[in-house]
Amino acid sequence: MAKKPEPAAKPAVKPAAAKADMTKYVCSVCGYEYDPAKGDPDNGVKPGTPFSALPKDWVCPVCGATKDQFEKK
Ligand SMILES: [Zn+2]
Repeated sequence: MAKKPEPAAKPAVKPAAAKADMTKYVCSVCGYEYDPAKGDPDNGVKPGTPFSALPKDWVCPVCGATKDQFEKK
């Protein structure tokens, strides 16, 4: 399989969408930690879902706090 060689002087710019945001968020009410690598399968959130990609109506599975009550870890 022949692959076209990349130009050597190509700048190493990564597209923003290529890397998912794996920042963990912690519920300020109960301390539940949302880990994007794990998601929230019990509530239909697949592993690998960034916090920012959660549905607007997603709430803390432990205490029911809304997204804006979560803080970056
Ligand atoms: Zn909570």
